[in-house]
Amino acid sequence: MSDLSEELRIPKPCPDCGSQRVRVSQVHNPDDKVFCASCGTYVCLYADVARMREEGASSEAEELLEQASNKGMKK
Ligand SMILES: [Zn+2]
Repeated sequence: MSDLSEELRIPKPCPDCGSQRVRVSQVHNPDDKVFCASCGTYVCLYADVARMREEGASSEAEELLEQASNKGMKK
């Protein structure tokens, strides 16, 4: 089997071809780069994919993240 990666559908489209299908490593390392399943363009890190999928399930998580990043933007 050559199944070391899997395809996922994410809210963020590929910057090159607009596909929302990406190929990710089965290891699911947050630092793994995620590539478009169609054209192979780098889309984002797996950590971003994981976050986007969680946000898709619940917008509450997005709000919490926003609050957290606002705190981090202290002058
Ligand atoms: Zn693409």
